[in-house]
Amino acid sequence: SFGDDQAESEVRADDRQYVFHSWSAQAHIDPLPVATGRGATFWDYQGTEYLDFSSQLVNLNLGHQHPRLVAAIQEQAGRMATIAPAFANDVRGELARRIVQAAPEGFAKVFFTNGGAEANENAVRMARLHTGKRKVLSQYRSYHGSTSTAISLTGDPRRWPNDAADPAVAHFFGPYLYRSAFHARTEDEECRRALEHLEQVIVLEGASTIAAIIVETVVGTNGILVPPPGYLPGVRELCDRYGIVLIADEVMAGFGRVGTVFAVENFGVVPDLITFAKGINSGYVPLGGVVISEAIAATFDDRAFPGGLTYSGHPLACAAGVATFEAFEQENILAHVQDLAERVVRPRLEDMAVRHPSVGEVRGLGMFWAVELVRDPETREPLVPFNAAGPDAAPMNEVAAACKSAGLWPFVHFNRLHVTPPLIITEEDLVRGLGIIDQALEVADSHVRT
Ligand code: PLP
Repeated sequence: SFGDDQAESEVRADDRQYVFHSWSAQAHIDPLPVATGRGATFWDYQGTEYLDFSSQLVNLNLGHQHPRLVAAIQEQAGRMATIAPAFANDVRGELARRIVQAAPEGFAKVFFTNGGAEANENAVRMARLHTGKRKVLSQYRSYHGSTSTAISLTGDPRRWPNDAADPAVAHFFGPYLYRSAFHARTEDEECRRALEHLEQVIVLEGASTIAAIIVETVVGTNGILVPPPGYLPGVRELCDRYGIVLIADEVMAGFGRVGTVFAVENFGVVPDLITFAKGINSGYVPLGGVVISEAIAATFDDRAFPGGLTYSGHPLACAAGVATFEAFEQENILAHVQDLAERVVRPRLEDMAVRHPSVGEVRGLGMFWAVELVRDPETREPLVPFNAAGPDAAPMNEVAAACKSAGLWPFVHFNRLHVTPPLIITEEDLVRGLGIIDQALEVADSHVRT
């Protein structure tokens, strides 16, 4: 039952007084109290319905309150709610086996963490110990987490106030044809020049100092940048040539988001380490991890791995992970994503790009799309400046507000609107949500210079 004003005001009051929120100036936020959610929808206390096109933080792949995940957690809680990592445990072992079996050939083991940042921290730790080198290269347009090495790897402005938390990191440009750092005009040119640039960075930073290159298989928050077909195989080749470990960060792109369990399956590349979190169990219980190649796993056969976490492989989280694999199989989730992506999302977004002068480019795959908004389609000036805040960000805030008032919760980053609904979304809801975005783009159009 909705409309309980007292319950709502208590939730709001406790939140405002006692909860310290991520990434925020605490006096300048007003978080929406959420009453409940189901599937691709959640409701506030007034019963206002939101179609969740952000999948929360692009983690809610199986939607709110998926019965199979809820039941698995309840069953596990009744049987064995927790056990330390040093013991063997049935669901932990089963989930690790399923992950390794789903990974490309050549992977051996899984190290479990509580989330994506810890996964990247530990992947880097493994790469450093395996190679005996320290430096890590990562892309400017990237997010890898907020702990010390992960925030240093991060290319986006969230790194700035944390700069050099881990000084052994250097950044490079990845491929992004729409805003090419290489003056490229075709995807092939962009791919080739991005690889030449990366090789120069390797040579100038010193191959003998570089332990790893980390890339998001498909860059997520920083633009849904789908790499050209030859790019990741080219990075793999450079890593092999210079003795560098390749880490694929699939925290956001993995577990069905792009229509496959592992995103690398789409690009013909086998990394040495794959990090995951989010979609592994839709965040019902925090879980992340590192999938480890045979060669790197072997480094720690006779040598202790100097890392661990009290909740590594937590049974409640792993039970939800096993249930995720079962849902993928029994509910044909991957086929559903691939079908809706190409039959519904791509054509509708491409049609919006033709009709709305504010749409500079649409791009993506699976349930992972970006609508990049511009003030001027000729110069490609972004609708709001890079890292815009306050009044500078107003046009994007207006677009987001138009989505919300029409019942859609959007994912907005800089000058982009991302289309990242839960993978279980129905065709009807997907079409309705895309219709809301279509309408909201008129607000963006009104800011286009004529
Ligand atoms: N890597 C990528 C690609 C992400 O998108 C995120 C989170 O958004 C992370 C790492 C960090 O994950 P977590 O917030 O679970 O630490």
